[in-house]
Amino acid sequence: MVDTDIAIIGAGPYGLSAAAHLAPPGRRLRIFGTPMQTWRTRMPAGMHLKSEGFASGLYDPRGKFRLSHYCRERDLPYADFGLPVPLAVFSDYGEEFARRYVPMREEGTVVAVHPVTAGFELVMADGTIVASRRVICANGITDYSIIPQTLQGLPPDIVSHCSAHHDLSGFAGKTVAVVGGGASAADYAALLAQAGATTHLVTRRPSLAFHLPPHRRGLRERAKYPRSTIGPGWNSVFYTKLPQVFHALPEARRLAITRGHLGPAPCWFVRDTVEKNVTVHASAQITAISVKGGRALLQLTNGVLEVDHVLAATGYKTDLSRLNFIGAELQRNIQTDAGGAPKLSASFETSVPGLHFVGAAAANAFGPLLRFACGAHFTAGRLAKSFK
Ligand SMILES: Cc1cc2nc3c(=O)[nH]c(=O)nc-3n(C[C@H](O)[C@H](O)[C@H](O)COP(=O)(O)OP(=O)(O)OC[C@H]3O[C@@H](n4cnc5c(N)ncnc54)[C@H](O)[C@@H]3O)c2cc1C
Repeated sequence: MVDTDIAIIGAGPYGLSAAAHLAPPGRRLRIFGTPMQTWRTRMPAGMHLKSEGFASGLYDPRGKFRLSHYCRERDLPYADFGLPVPLAVFSDYGEEFARRYVPMREEGTVVAVHPVTAGFELVMADGTIVASRRVICANGITDYSIIPQTLQGLPPDIVSHCSAHHDLSGFAGKTVAVVGGGASAADYAALLAQAGATTHLVTRRPSLAFHLPPHRRGLRERAKYPRSTIGPGWNSVFYTKLPQVFHALPEARRLAITRGHLGPAPCWFVRDTVEKNVTVHASAQITAISVKGGRALLQLTNGVLEVDHVLAATGYKTDLSRLNFIGAELQRNIQTDAGGAPKLSASFETSVPGLHFVGAAAANAFGPLLRFACGAHFTAGRLAKSFK
């Protein structure tokens, strides 16, 4: 007995946008997860989005409820460009989107997915079983967080991944080393400093490559670097406008582009706070770490650092073996590419018929666009077309 035609796992921008596009009439759809949970609990309070206002959204089929509409309704400051979007505003907007367009959403965590004759069986944390013909995994990136090998195996009160922290007030009065050279590292470092922590930032890079602040763009610059939702440049325009063409490129080329496009670059608006309040250890690698008296002693290639806590802002890498809810049989049957991400058809379907992955797990297949919330627009539209 099948309970639903489509089950979506995860209620972030991708899951919610897909649900808004695929919703009844005509098909049964269930979506599981707490709306915007990653943004509410796994990103630092006080953060501003890296993506511009016009590129930060969730997507209903008629394009009626963009961030600009929400801000207008609430009388909140908004600009397509140049005005950083507060995390709290984006999270509130996502929750309002869920209330308006995804009334069928259900709180609850999926703890297992098993293949059965008519599709899949989903086991919920409370033991409920849901049978679905198709499953769309929109589970985001938090299961894929990476901690460098040198820092692994230490207790979480000494070393943790930044995605474990939303409220940074507990670090007031502590000394913290943030490891990484990208936007997350700079965001966490700036917010830790503002929260009253003595903050160090350790990066292998010779310097932090902050984005340029908004400025008047002359004709020449606009022609050379046209705007796109993921940043300026002709390559970015191609990746955002034609993800389906990107999908047709040879695998090795796709992986190289997704890996190399848009290197780590902190936002312009945290630059001042970082430069004034954070000690940056550039061209530095951590070669060893030891724990003494509840503090961490870091051996750097160019010095020594003693801190209360090490925060790894060292990114994410799709690795299906880390998804506990994908059972052993499915793990064996999902074909992956050389980068460890699932191989996907043009409708985001894995080698297991009826099982789909969207969001960052689909970036090797469809390009850098899928690493950003704005990729949910293309994704939801594509799913809606494929499931007609
Ligand atoms: C610090 C930081 C800053 C970022 N800033 C930006 C930005 O400014 N702009 C931008 O476009 N992107 C940004 N990103 C990238 C951002 O993560 C993605 O754009 C976006 O979250 C992708 O949406 P999603 O729906 O795929 O994932 P998510 O928003 O992570 O949603 C996935 C949801 O699935 C839920 N889930 C997972 N497993 C289960 C399960 N088994 N059962 C039920 N629910 C489950 C999770 O709780 C989560 O709520 C940022 C990422 C980080 C880490």
